[in-house]
This record gives sequence, C-alpha cells and structure tokens, in this order.
Amino acid sequence: MMRANYRVPNIDAEKCHTCKRCLARRSCRLKALVQFEQNELPYIDQVLCRGCLVCVEECPFRAIVVE
Ligand code: SF4
Ligand code: SF4
Repeated sequence: MMRANYRVPNIDAEKCHTCKRCLARRSCRLKALVQFEQNELPYIDQVLCRGCLVCVEECPFRAIVVE
C-alpha cells in the first residue's frame, strides 16, 4: 500500500493531561481526533486524518506530536 504524502500526528500519552474534554479535538474539521469518553486519552484516527496539523497548535500541553 502507498504511504500517504503527509504526516499524521500522534498523541503523546506522557504529555497529554487527558483533559475532561480534549481542547484540541474541536479544531479538527475531519473529526479525526477522537475522544469517546471524558478524561480519556484521545487518539488520532490514522485513516481520517489528513495531516493539516491544526490540532498540534491547539493543544495547550503540546501533547500532539509529529514523529
Ligand atoms: S491532546 Fe492536549 S488538549 Fe487533548 S486531552 Fe491531551 S492535553 Fe488535553
Ligand atoms: S492533523 Fe488535522 S486532520 Fe489530523 S487530527 Fe489534527 S486537525 Fe485533524
């Protein structure tokens, strides 16, 4: 399978404060940043994400990282 030509970020569990409601989540127009339950570690859906990296700027704890 071809690798997409963009970089999908990940949530760094060490840095993430598992906010009650992930503050970065609403910035993702594709709803690729997912948090099902409050206070749960969110994750980024690798299929939906298009690597715009808007969410990276929105996390106050810099927990969304590009490797
Ligand atoms: S990714 Fe950032 S905004 Fe989202 S829950 Fe973790 S620390 Fe909070
Ligand atoms: S990089 Fe863009 S598309 Fe991917 S989760 Fe963040 S805001 Fe959504």
